[in-house]
Amino acid sequence: MSVLHTILNTFFPSTCVGCGEVLVGNENQLCVSCLSQLPATHFSATPDNEAERMLIGKIPFVAVSAMLQFQHGNKTQRIIHSMKFHGNSDLCLLMGRQMGLDLARSGRFDDIDLLLPVPLHWIRHLKRGYNQSELLCRGMSEVLGVPINTTALKRVRYTRKQSQQQRDKRQTNVENAFRTMHPEQLKNKHILLVDDVMTTGATLTSCCDALANVYSLRISIATLSIATY
Ligand SMILES: [Zn+2]
Repeated sequence: MSVLHTILNTFFPSTCVGCGEVLVGNENQLCVSCLSQLPATHFSATPDNEAERMLIGKIPFVAVSAMLQFQHGNKTQRIIHSMKFHGNSDLCLLMGRQMGLDLARSGRFDDIDLLLPVPLHWIRHLKRGYNQSELLCRGMSEVLGVPINTTALKRVRYTRKQSQQQRDKRQTNVENAFRTMHPEQLKNKHILLVDDVMTTGATLTSCCDALANVYSLRISIATLSIATY
């Protein structure tokens, strides 16, 4: 740790995103207590879980996981908020690594060829400075050793934020928002589509509609969280 870093840390100590307590030792972003008490769903190891039941009939998936429960005011909401609205790219990478460990332990996601982040429209990408789902993929890739593809699927339409939409308007909001630009990159592959939050599954369904023309493609899905309100 540099001298400057030590001085800054003395006067402006880093605090836990989950509980606000000062971080100590090797803690990064989340204190040990918060990290061990995140509201896990255990979907990764559970076939026919709540996320799979939400998407069945809409997406021809192999397996679906959403790692954490997202509720108003819980630690997951604070994590997602920090990732998306406070420019906390380090937290995205950390949560991506957690997702990677979770999937590796489950054994249901062992033959994934490519990680595909749900793309942001370039205007939103420019505003935020990064795509949080792409950073989740980078963290996952470190753990799983699976490459990331950010060129095959594009967001071609600028849409309102899904979090600001009523549940019944979400599907219309993202309809035809995505397009497959390079189907040949995905041919015969088993891809893992990655996003931060699953609420109605509308964004994921729209991505899969755009991927429907890819020859012999198998799709699994992993999101950091699932909103259960
Ligand atoms: Zn904490």
